Amino acid sequence: MSDKFDVVVIGGGPGGYVAAIRAAQLGLKTACIDKYINKNGKATFGGTCLNVGCIPSKALLDTSHKFHDANEEFETHGISVKKVEIDVPRMIQRKDEVVDKLTFGVAGLFKSNGVTPFEGTGKLLAGKKVEFTDHSGKTTILEAQNVIIATGSVPVEIPPAPLKDDIIVDSTGALEFQTTPKRLGVIGAGVIGLELGSVWNRLGSEVIVLEAQDEFLSVVDRQIAREASKVFKKQGLDIRVGARVTGTDIKRKQVTVSYTDKDGEQEVVVDKLIVAVGRRPYTEGLLSVDSGVSLDERGFIFVNEQCATDVPGVFAIGDVVRGPMLAHKASEEGVMVAERIADQKAQVNYDLVPSVIYTHPEISWVGKTEDELKAAGEDYKTGFFPFSASGRALAANDTDGMVKIIADEKTDRILGCHIIGPNAADLCQQILISMEFGSTAEDIGLTMFPHPALCEAVHEAALAVNGHAIHKANRRK
Ligand code: FAD
Ligand code: AMP
Repeated sequence: MSDKFDVVVIGGGPGGYVAAIRAAQLGLKTACIDKYINKNGKATFGGTCLNVGCIPSKALLDTSHKFHDANEEFETHGISVKKVEIDVPRMIQRKDEVVDKLTFGVAGLFKSNGVTPFEGTGKLLAGKKVEFTDHSGKTTILEAQNVIIATGSVPVEIPPAPLKDDIIVDSTGALEFQTTPKRLGVIGAGVIGLELGSVWNRLGSEVIVLEAQDEFLSVVDRQIAREASKVFKKQGLDIRVGARVTGTDIKRKQVTVSYTDKDGEQEVVVDKLIVAVGRRPYTEGLLSVDSGVSLDERGFIFVNEQCATDVPGVFAIGDVVRGPMLAHKASEEGVMVAERIADQKAQVNYDLVPSVIYTHPEISWVGKTEDELKAAGEDYKTGFFPFSASGRALAANDTDGMVKIIADEKTDRILGCHIIGPNAADLCQQILISMEFGSTAEDIGLTMFPHPALCEAVHEAALAVNGHAIHKANRRK
């Protein structure tokens, strides 16, 4: 086998494996290196997303949601079930089966597209050479016309809460609990903390979330964040904002977590503690001193808008570079870079990256928030529609939340969409697509939506922007 490639991708997560597949589709001779070994000792592609991120967390969210429905919802619909029990090891096993299916799928896609997989570690040397070390320690040099770095990120650890066995865990450990903790602490009310906290809350844990910032979900539109806070409280999540964790002490398999808040020093005792305080770019052992690739002050690989590093022919994408740490952002960058290597004019629209928190109800948004527009001095108008007025949401007894659309005051062009509610991710995507085409709120208003469907709430919110909503009272101008 020749060791010369058109493209060598280091990292096989949603950034790297997608870049590799697209490059191979474009006729480029492509290799993809990944060093991940799963808990059964098997090398798998798919990165954080497939192995220990998006997919396994959603598998647990889906199981716990069904359990919660059976326990608390079915009765409302007239369905009686005797005793609902959760078999946690089976839930974890099902999650593993989903992960195996998808990571196996990536291997299959590599095969069908002609990507050469390399299981082991890649290191970028000078002159676009990549040193590959397999899991037995054998080293080979791969020569590349182009290198794409997609080594992703790892959880941030904080000195007051060092990880310990299965008691103080990061997001990866939180996907492996074999029993439901009686009391669960979560440090960080970000996306990952809220999703994992929700899983175990639904299964019966008493969940306490400690968040250092005073404002809950500071990146989310204020109206949506307020609604989320109300809904999570109703669900029994004890979210304490302005609570900075300062220490932990494990005794007899319980953790005493110390934190400070506006009233001073506090303590809470929990059976398990999840540290979910963010992720950092992962570049350990990746770059030789003479690779020519530089990092920014926060440790991300420095790239331009097109994901090019300082070295011609070397690109970096995904969590290891600036921007939101999201799988779909990584994949889009992967496609863009592969297509640019193949001399196509590709780009990523960084103004329209959707964000989702997969709690129930889901929270999803795209574009500008009211606060951002106010800060920029832009004139805007808003329209909202509550799911409590949606026939379909009522039929499903799933009425928490709302759709909010923000449009330019003069041009009516949609500037942002913010949703908390059932299927928010899919609903928000409808507006994202319309924003890609520069649509106005009126355009959405003039579009026909199926009845009865949750997306009618999107239609009504768009109508409400100009005071024309039918199924709720409009604000008088
Ligand atoms: P990664 O997926 O991190 O992949 C990098 C790969 O590179 C890894 O397999 C690693 O082993 C390999 N690697 C690193 N260094 C080397 C080296 N030197 N040689 C060879 N291989 C190397 N995002 C969403 O969009 N939606 C979600 O719902 C979502 N949920 C999440 C839930 C959790 C619990 C977590 C932890 C993350 C979640 N994310 C979610 C974030 C998402 O997983 C990441 O944004 C995404 O995986 C980043 O993709 P990537 O390709 O940049 O890197
Ligand atoms: P995210 O970056 O979305 O994953 O969210 C991580 C959250 O953890 C942020 O909201 C941080 O404010 C929070 N956080 C970081 N350090 C601490 C700490 N020591 N105590 C409590 N919360 C923290």
